Amino acid sequence: MKILLDNDLNELQQLMLDLNEPKFRAKQLYDSLLLGQNVDENTTLPKLLKEKLSDYIWQPIKIYKTYEGKDAVKFLYKLNDNNIIEGIVMFHKYGNTLCVSTQVGCRMGCKFCASTLDGLLRNLTCGEILGQVVAVNKYLGGNIADRKITNIVLMGSGEPLDNYDNVLKFLKMVTDKNSFTFSKRNISLSTCGLADKIDKLADDFAGIVLTISLHSSTQSKRQEIMPIAYKYDLTTLINSVKNYAIKSGRRVVFEYTLIDGVNDSIEDAKNLSKLTKGLMCHINLIPLNFVKERNLQTSKNIYNFEKQLKNMGCSVTVRNSMGSEIDGACGQLRRKHLAEENNE
Ligand code: SAH
Repeated sequence: MKILLDNDLNELQQLMLDLNEPKFRAKQLYDSLLLGQNVDENTTLPKLLKEKLSDYIWQPIKIYKTYEGKDAVKFLYKLNDNNIIEGIVMFHKYGNTLCVSTQVGCRMGCKFCASTLDGLLRNLTCGEILGQVVAVNKYLGGNIADRKITNIVLMGSGEPLDNYDNVLKFLKMVTDKNSFTFSKRNISLSTCGLADKIDKLADDFAGIVLTISLHSSTQSKRQEIMPIAYKYDLTTLINSVKNYAIKSGRRVVFEYTLIDGVNDSIEDAKNLSKLTKGLMCHINLIPLNFVKERNLQTSKNIYNFEKQLKNMGCSVTVRNSMGSEIDGACGQLRRKHLAEENNE
C-alpha cells in the first residue's frame, strides 16, 4: 500500500489529475493529512474521491504507547508493517522539541547505542518521518497554523544521512509553506559522520543545524567506539564540517557522550579543544545513558571535563538527559518493549 504523506503538494496535485479530480482537492487532502486525519475523519473530500483513495494509507504512524515524564513524553509508534519505532517530545521553556527517528534500527554499530543492536531493519519513508510530526502535533492538540511542536531534532533511532533521499524530502516538506513551515534554524540533524553526505547536504539543504556525534577526538579511539570512523577519518569529517559551517553560516554542534575510562580524561579534553579550534561550533557533553546490553558506564568526570574545555576557550554545555527516567536514549524503549512482548 502506498502512503499518501510520501507525496508533497505538487505530487498530490498530479495524483488528483490522474484520478480525474480537480487540482484544488490536493490542498484539501494535504491539510487533512497534516492534521492527522484518517479517511473517516475527513469532512472536506467527496465520498467518490475517498473511494478512489482506498488503496492508500492516510496516517503511516500510529501512537501505540505513551510514557509521560515530568518534562517529556516518550512514544512508541506502530508502522503499517507492525514495526515499532520510538520518539520523544521534550518540553523546554522556549518550546517543544520533537525527536524523530529516520530508520527502524541502524547499521552504524556505535558501541554505546541501543538502536544499532539488531542492525538496520529498514529505512523510513519521508511520509513516515513526517507522520511522527503529524501524530505528536495532533496528540498535543496542535493544528497546522498553531502547531505544538516548535523544534525538530533528527536524533531518534537510525542514521539520517544513511537514508538521505527520504530525509531530504522530509526536510523540504516540513519547511514548506504549504505544510508546517518550520524554519530551518529550528531543525537539527544529528549524524555519526558520513562526510560525503554532509557535503551533499551542504549543497542541497544548508541552514539546518548540523550536529556531529563525535564522542572522541582521536582517530584510534573513535574507531574503537564508532566503526564509521574507519570509513571517514577525523580529518575528512572535520573538513566536511568546516565546509558545512561556511555554506550554512551556522555554527555546528558536536555531541560528546562521556564514557567512564574511555573518552573522559584531561588528555581527551585537550585533544577535543585542539580539534575544534577555529571552528564555529558548540560542544554538548552528554552523560551516557546506561544500556543494559553494553558494558559501559557514564563518566564521573563530566563537570571537570566541562571546566577543562571552558578554560581552553571552548563553547560547551552539559546536556541534561531529559526523559532518561522514561528511557529517553535512542533505541532503549523499543528494545524494552520488544523484550517484554517476547516474554508474554
Ligand atoms: N545516528 C545519528 C542520530 C541518532 S543517535 C547520530 O549518530 O548522531 C542520537 C544521539 O544519541 C547521538 O549523539 C548518539 O551518539 C547519542 N547516543 C546514543 N546512545 C546513547 C547513550 N546510550 N547515551 C547517551 N547518548 C547516546
